[in-house]
Amino acid sequence: MVNRFFRCVLTACLLVVGTGLSVPAVAAPTIDVSSARLGQHEDKTRFVLELSAAPQYDVFLLADPYRIVIDLPELNWLADENASRKKGLVENYRFGLFKKDTSRVVLDVGRPVKILRTVVLPPSSGKPYRFFIDIQETDDASFRQELAARRKQQQNTQVAILAPEPTPTSRKHTIVIDAGHGGIDPGAIGKSGVYEKKITLGVAKRMYDILSKNKKYNVILTRDDDTFLSLRERVSVGRHAAADLFVSIHADSIGRPNFRGAAVYTLSENASDDEAAELAKAENKSDLIAGVDMSVQDDTVQGILIDLAQRETMNFSVKFAEMIIPEIAKSGMQTRGRSHRFAGFRVLKAPDVPSVLVELGYLSNSEDEKILKSSSGQHRLAQAIANAIDRYFETVDP
Ligand SMILES: [Zn+2]
Repeated sequence: MVNRFFRCVLTACLLVVGTGLSVPAVAAPTIDVSSARLGQHEDKTRFVLELSAAPQYDVFLLADPYRIVIDLPELNWLADENASRKKGLVENYRFGLFKKDTSRVVLDVGRPVKILRTVVLPPSSGKPYRFFIDIQETDDASFRQELAARRKQQQNTQVAILAPEPTPTSRKHTIVIDAGHGGIDPGAIGKSGVYEKKITLGVAKRMYDILSKNKKYNVILTRDDDTFLSLRERVSVGRHAAADLFVSIHADSIGRPNFRGAAVYTLSENASDDEAAELAKAENKSDLIAGVDMSVQDDTVQGILIDLAQRETMNFSVKFAEMIIPEIAKSGMQTRGRSHRFAGFRVLKAPDVPSVLVELGYLSNSEDEKILKSSSGQHRLAQAIANAIDRYFETVDP
């Protein structure tokens, strides 16, 4: 499978060239987490994980907002997911697969903190291995100093992403399908508790199956399992594959339960409306949720600059966006009034790849959620976007 191969190259490269983390580059057996808890002591807050084996780990800090990131080998989370995640200096935490062989825990701390110690204790008195981290309040300047020192330790944090070169003789159209969110970033959470990351993957895989049957297409999935990818990595997949089209799939939640229907977005400096601006803001938070160090991201995804070269790409993006809504309308999913909207979505920022973001519907609306969760609904939506892709290529390359 092309996308499998591609992902392997991507992942291997991330691990080797990658982050200089102390996590092993070779696959280690998964470690079970039997318990995760927070404790507040007089002078510190402690976060503890009970584990089936001693982990290698890497801990670093991120600012704006203040976070502690703990990277560990792949974890099998058996701990009570409903346990309290707020105590002392910790306001919340989340966990999930960050990339192959690396699970990540992100602690949100509401104020600057100092890491007093990180320890792995061997089993004793009936307790398994324990990893713990003790933190204490500090001031902003000390926090940033510590952050810089830890970053320095991690040599070579720039991630180089390699992908197979496209064959110049190929007349195939390369389509990148990007299932939004994944791993540590669940995306929106539906009324019934379903995660957006699961729905986007379901629809993306169905699109892959439908489109791969067409010999004129070379289809790539940015992810085909429950893994996190940063927005920059998603953009890079499209660029390195010299994609003709990049389609990012989402199904968000908007805090207004009567809002429903699909909408299609393209990139723009200025948002078409407040709702589009709000959505872009939510989507752009993905890296923040997953604890990606934004300060080492390169400039191609910082700030939005639409130069002349990008303008042609934009025209193609808009052309494609306008073809999707009528197809989705035929699939039985409602659509929002205007055919397409625009805002500053970071995942759409490849200057040379026509890119659109499809909001399939709203998980905050129970009718939409029902369609999005069902296998037949996912299939109909996948088919609708695939039809739009066929129409698009018939128009631009008859
Ligand atoms: Zn989303």
